[in-house]
Amino acid sequence: MINNNLVIDTFYQIATILKIELDANVEITDSLNVDYRGRIFESQFGQIKKHSIEINKAVIKDEEELIEVICHELAHIKQMRHCKSHTQLTNDYIKMVNK
Ligand SMILES: [Zn+2]
Repeated sequence: MINNNLVIDTFYQIATILKIELDANVEITDSLNVDYRGRIFESQFGQIKKHSIEINKAVIKDEEELIEVICHELAHIKQMRHCKSHTQLTNDYIKMVNK
């Protein structure tokens, strides 16, 4: 199960491994927002803003997915858009974390 401590601990472990220094707070939400078809949008997993990174634990099923969500959000620091280089950076981060 994903709890707040796990989210925070995992987040800072990853930031340390990736040597990313953040001027941001980590916020944890657990609101489950779905569209009328019951789909959860990617942005529901997490969100990065100027001074905060939001992680939605309600939709994260396990630690592996938590790592993916955190790496995805951290990759947005260098690349805001969901383009190829963002996907590449996210995958690089996940590999570094899982070493
Ligand atoms: Zn994104």
